[in-house]
Amino acid sequence: METLARWGWIPFFESQLDPRQDQGLIVGRAVHELRGVFDVQSAEGLLRAGVAGRLHQGGAVPVVAGDWVCLQRKEGRFVIQRVLERRTQLVRQAASRRTEAQVLASNVDVIFVVTSFQQDLSLRRVERYVAQVWESGASPVVVLNKADLSRDVEGVTRKVEAVAPGVPVFAVSAMDGSGVEALAAQLGQGRTGALVGSSGVGKSSLLNRLMGRALQEVRVLRDSDQTGQHTTTSRHLFDLGEGRGMLLDTPGLREFQVWTDGPGLEHVFGEVQELAEGCKFRNCTHSGEPGCQVQAALDEGRLDEGRLGGWRQLQREAAYHQGRRDEAGKRAEAKRFTKQVRQHLKVKGVR
Ligand code: GDP
Ligand code: ZN
Repeated sequence: METLARWGWIPFFESQLDPRQDQGLIVGRAVHELRGVFDVQSAEGLLRAGVAGRLHQGGAVPVVAGDWVCLQRKEGRFVIQRVLERRTQLVRQAASRRTEAQVLASNVDVIFVVTSFQQDLSLRRVERYVAQVWESGASPVVVLNKADLSRDVEGVTRKVEAVAPGVPVFAVSAMDGSGVEALAAQLGQGRTGALVGSSGVGKSSLLNRLMGRALQEVRVLRDSDQTGQHTTTSRHLFDLGEGRGMLLDTPGLREFQVWTDGPGLEHVFGEVQELAEGCKFRNCTHSGEPGCQVQAALDEGRLDEGRLGGWRQLQREAAYHQGRRDEAGKRAEAKRFTKQVRQHLKVKGVR
């Protein structure tokens, strides 16, 4: 199990093994996926494995890069028989009408929310990302990239710190490398990081900086795996080497759009929620009611208008997503009911 520690094997996962049920199975971490075939890092080395049919539910692949899995050897081939419970998972609402959440990353410890000192920097977006990272179970770290372009690194950093209470904020430059080692220090032996953020903020550049030589090696490996597949269709977990941890980089993560609807909001907007709880009316809309603590804080300059706007917007979206989930739940229930009735009628010989 010592070699597995390098890949993040901790008691949380080990305790899930059942000596009877899992005997003879090989434990490993899925580090790469290509069309349902996984490369699994195990104590016996890197193994290529398919997924047992019974794990598939409704067509969705039940394994994602980052998962810890149990493999069975079958006539020289390997099959994933079990996926261990995830310690963290980053989900996004599916792009389609169906409101199934899609797991983008599994068992990530630290998620770097990358933004830049360039035009992109939006405090509202930082709030969203951070809220969603909290919900995943991972720890957020905010990265302000392109520090080389800013004349007010200190001032901007402080503004960002104010909207992400308790979250470390790092100003870095992927171009000249400054601050990048401090990011790497957030990981370490057996810990997994991932980068999220809008296109153009410098995620690829940061990855390159962080990985250096490691990336070159991965490229060579990938070229020789003869799948003939373009890199953008694969999912990867990169080893940073020598007790430096890993980085997970998947296309889904890159395109990750933020939405959030729950506990994460409290983390990010704690002070606003606290004000709202102090309002005289339970259902206060904070738009002129007497005894409104939110309004009072605004008037006295203790609360920023933009921040209140960010909170309202995320709450609206939360309500929207909740509504869609409720609807989906009702539809599924109606379907089950219809099925039951049909079965009942069949049993009774009625048609
Ligand atoms: P991604 O879309 O988030 O992966 O962003 P990229 O890594 O592709 O970077 C987008 C652009 O920003 C590229 O032209 C980079 O050269 C540039 N860039 C990335 N990091 C920095 C930086 O620290 N400073 C400056 N000035 N430019 C950067
Ligand atoms: Zn109020």
